[in-house]
Amino acid sequence: MKEFDYVIIGGGCAGLSLAYELEIHNKLIDKKLAIIEPREDYKRDKSWSFWKVTSHNFSDCIKKSWKNFTINISNNTKYLECSKTPYQTIDSGLFYEKIINKLKLNENIFFFKNINEINTQNSILFNSVSDISDDKHKLWQHFYGIEIETDKKIFDDEIFNLMDFDCEQKNKVHFFYTLPFSKNKALIETTWISELNDKSIMDYEKQITNYLNDRLKIKKYKINYSEKGAIPLFQINNLKKLNQINIGTVGGMTRLSTGYTFLNIQEQCKYIRENIKNIQKVKLFQINKKYRFFDEIFLKVLRKNPEKMPNIFYKMFESKTETVINFLSNTSNIFEDFSIVNKMPKWIFIKALFN
Ligand SMILES: Cc1cc2nc3c(=O)[nH]c(=O)nc-3n(C[C@H](O)[C@H](O)[C@H](O)COP(=O)(O)OP(=O)(O)OC[C@H]3O[C@@H](n4cnc5c(N)ncnc54)[C@H](O)[C@@H]3O)c2cc1C
Repeated sequence: MKEFDYVIIGGGCAGLSLAYELEIHNKLIDKKLAIIEPREDYKRDKSWSFWKVTSHNFSDCIKKSWKNFTINISNNTKYLECSKTPYQTIDSGLFYEKIINKLKLNENIFFFKNINEINTQNSILFNSVSDISDDKHKLWQHFYGIEIETDKKIFDDEIFNLMDFDCEQKNKVHFFYTLPFSKNKALIETTWISELNDKSIMDYEKQITNYLNDRLKIKKYKINYSEKGAIPLFQINNLKKLNQINIGTVGGMTRLSTGYTFLNIQEQCKYIRENIKNIQKVKLFQINKKYRFFDEIFLKVLRKNPEKMPNIFYKMFESKTETVINFLSNTSNIFEDFSIVNKMPKWIFIKALFN
């Protein structure tokens, strides 16, 4: 059986980002890498969005970026600006194509469908495959989105809508998210925070149709593409094993209060590449402790008080927009942290802290 220096289990966002990072920094000139990925072919399946607070390798995969956004609760809309850190959407189809084309040029990189095809005994494993089991007490961010195309030019593509809470909540947290890619094309997503198997929220198509018809007054459109998923909003046991390092979602790269993961994955990949020679000895790359602490309390508040969350999110944006973006993107300083905490309703957060 074939042996490899490195094995990446799961050629999704984290697995491919890591392989690409190693490849472009010449870390695979004299090392062999196996990528284990069962999918038959790569096609667009996700849209990864984030405020660009750090550089990344995929500016040529950006579908669109925006300098303005809104957030809504019933009867109120905030108009916000983010020109210093534009909000970018990566097209996963372009991302996969770019990386696979690059990796195929290196004869030291091999692709397999199943880990049983290789001998991993002497390899360092980078694992992005989840074995997270269902647990009723845990929260997930569920979403379903469609990219629609209309005959008429109806969208303002200079501004996206981050969260529209003016919709049915069912005693959970629910909002719509709209990314206008052009004047007649947009991705509309319905997003819920709830348990993994909560059937009561899963009539997604009906929710989006109603939202388009009743709220956005869009009746005629065609659907070009859809995406669906659920992100775990809880800390995953990520113990260091001698020859295995978890990466991506299972490597704890999701910000639990928001679901944002993409840029954290890129930071994790940079860290692994910089330390690749010593990777079994250096400490694990993690999201800063202060954010993990805040997010844990935030989610306790959310679980107990879902009806308060639209106002809490809305109020957070009373701080300077730059401050909120830095906080949500793990780049805030202590003054910015204080400004955010100061906007939170004190009593329910203190109660959550001691529960
Ligand atoms: C629909 C969707 C939209 C998202 N949008 C955003 C966003 O806008 N911004 C953001 O920051 N984050 C977003 N996320 C969160 C996060 O960025 C993504 O989930 C991201 O894909 C996580 O990367 P990953 O490598 O951990 O997992 P994945 O990208 O899911 O990769 C895991 C890979 O493992 C493969 N695999 C499965 N089983 C096996 C097996 N047994 N052996 C080997 N391989 C296997 C899968 O086929 C897959 O390719 C989104 C998530 C989803 C689901």
